Amino acid sequence: MRAEVLAIGTELLLGQIVDTNSSWIGEQLAVNGMDCFYQAKVGDNLNRIVEAVNEALTRCDVLICSGGLGPTQDDLTRNALAAVAGVELVRDDDMADRIMEMFMGRGRSMPQNNLRQAERPEGARFLETQPGTAPGLVMELDNGKQIYALPGVPWEMQQMMTNDVLPALRERAGVSSVIVSRTLRTWGMSESALAEALDERMTELDQIGNPTIAFLASGVEGIKVRLTASGPDREEVDQLLDSEEELVRQALGDVVFGVDDETMESSVLAELSRLGMTIGVAESLTGGLVGARICDVPGASAQFRGSIVSYASDVKFDLLGVPRGPVISEEAAVAMADGARRVIGSDVGIAATGVAGPNSAEGHRPGTVCIAVVIGDPDRDGIVESAMIRLPGMRQQVRELSVISLLSLLRSQLLKVQPGQITTAAGHDLD
Ligand code: ATP
Repeated sequence: MRAEVLAIGTELLLGQIVDTNSSWIGEQLAVNGMDCFYQAKVGDNLNRIVEAVNEALTRCDVLICSGGLGPTQDDLTRNALAAVAGVELVRDDDMADRIMEMFMGRGRSMPQNNLRQAERPEGARFLETQPGTAPGLVMELDNGKQIYALPGVPWEMQQMMTNDVLPALRERAGVSSVIVSRTLRTWGMSESALAEALDERMTELDQIGNPTIAFLASGVEGIKVRLTASGPDREEVDQLLDSEEELVRQALGDVVFGVDDETMESSVLAELSRLGMTIGVAESLTGGLVGARICDVPGASAQFRGSIVSYASDVKFDLLGVPRGPVISEEAAVAMADGARRVIGSDVGIAATGVAGPNSAEGHRPGTVCIAVVIGDPDRDGIVESAMIRLPGMRQQVRELSVISLLSLLRSQLLKVQPGQITTAAGHDLD
């Protein structure tokens, strides 16, 4: 069965919003075993939407549209579908009541305009799932082809796809197998290095065909290695994914820092928790981003004690005890990390200092960043590790890459430590 995707909305053509709906739908179609050879975008113009729908229908069996189901005059998807099928738009009283109740439930009266959303081309059906006021539609044409119309709002569209559209398409296409993806998150290896490390296995999988491995470059979040497997039931698919994950981890080692929704910061917090350690941060060019990312993880308070934004040099000297002198050096980063550990009273201190750009500083080019990790007291049995790295990109990217590079350095050091190996600071007073 061939499916196509049509994203409707002038904002998409003007570049005011990025068409993430089509890529999401495309991905879902692929993992559900359906072919999708074309995707298109069209503005809010009735004739051109009709033209785009008709053109797609010359090639595909099922067309999935997103956008243009809102209550205003420029929401034309309903009208376009009626024109394509050569039928009238009819008002559905049950749907009108339902939308009115939704407004009343939120203590608001319904603008008359919203009644447009209760209209459907004669013969079309509303989808069961309706997270917002815009109902989704499915319309079957005389030639057996189907058109789905889903709202543009991504989370509404996604719920309808997951609950209604994909199960129906799978049934229609006779797909009975289960398809599941698992994403291994990596940091520290380029895409080509990952491909090289997995080369042999990927060649084998090309022949076997199941599971499959794909790389997704995700910018400052690293590179994702996505494993996708299919099988008759969930249990079998999970087993396939488990053994594939093991093989990939063997090939890649510690660069895999998490699975699916796990982040570098959640992985670091998990390691700290394993060791019963707390952390304090000293930030210069990251200006609080490290602390913010750690705080994003629910339950961070068990390990995270705080972050000091020591941006000006004299704050580094006076508050953290960094020796007066250059502040973009590994020595300064180590002194900041150790200062954070002492001032904050944590077991671990980490720090980043460097040049975010656009101007150079202390003779260093933008993107020159020093990161340091101090685990325990260096004068006793503690560990000190630091690095000077060169990061690409503009100011914001350099700052964000600094955060993940620092957290990654910390993670790599924590992985080597056994519980009880390093003396921890006494008298923690955490919330
Ligand atoms: P609703 O009535 O629920 O607002 P709608 O079907 O009228 O939905 P649109 O008005 O086309 O949807 O879009 C609503 C919002 O959804 C847009 O402002 C945009 O933020 C988001 N959106 C629309 N289309 C896309 C798309 N293709 N990719 C990502 N986001 C989109």
